[in-house]
Amino acid sequence: MKFLMIGAHQDDNEFECGGLASKLIKNGHTVQFLSMCNGCGGHHILKPEEITAVRAKESAKVAELLGITYDVWDIDDCNLVADLPTRKRLIRYIRKFSPDVIITHRTNDYMPDHRATGQLVVDASYLLTVPNECYDVPEMRFMPVIMCSADKFTNPKFRADVVVDVDSEIDVKLQIANINVSQVYEWLPYTYGETVPEKDDERFEWLKGMNITQNTTDEEVMSAKRGYAVQFAKTAARFRGELIERYGFEKGSKIRYAEAYEVCEYGTELTDEIKSVMF
Ligand SMILES: [Zn+2]
Repeated sequence: MKFLMIGAHQDDNEFECGGLASKLIKNGHTVQFLSMCNGCGGHHILKPEEITAVRAKESAKVAELLGITYDVWDIDDCNLVADLPTRKRLIRYIRKFSPDVIITHRTNDYMPDHRATGQLVVDASYLLTVPNECYDVPEMRFMPVIMCSADKFTNPKFRADVVVDVDSEIDVKLQIANINVSQVYEWLPYTYGETVPEKDDERFEWLKGMNITQNTTDEEVMSAKRGYAVQFAKTAARFRGELIERYGFEKGSKIRYAEAYEVCEYGTELTDEIKSVMF
């Protein structure tokens, strides 16, 4: 099956879908990442063209690690709008890849680029199958499943339709984060006012946030203040009920890390076949 992850920025796909992407690739499926923006806004010291070049290299390393195709468009960060030319560009792009599943942002995200990305995907969705729209690229004869990655916004609240166990992929997720030096160790700590350890091994430990074992409770995870891996432990804790429902009590209660997705009603219905591939 073919999965297309469409994020506004490079780290969006990597962080929200990295575990799932890794799992899918290991099971022989095809994964493609598209970042609609070029990354030029993600630094406080490097100039736009400098950080764009740095991030392109980081993304290329992530693509190599995961074994995926990774496209980065030339639109400046903070400048993405859901306009007609970008919608048409996206329709052509999606048709050429013809994915079974698309994962993107919800349209009620705080960040305008995320919101525009989600909007562009839902605006493109029906038109993917309309032959006379963008007729230079053949229309799709089926509608993909469209899903949105988890967030904490509440109006409306995120609904976890699919919660994926990524315990086996947490090391890959940490490696992805570790590749994104400019974001994980520089830009994001700057925005949160955090100090990052200097040595490589200490940095990697810092990245985890807390030592999560089988005995760590969901309450302890939810009260953790920071940490990259902790975010995905929080997803597992937050959607514990869904994990138990899917994987059974024995396994579901022990899953430490998860990624969650909401099904968008404009795509096709999530089939049992796709579900089994994702879980
Ligand atoms: Zn983003």
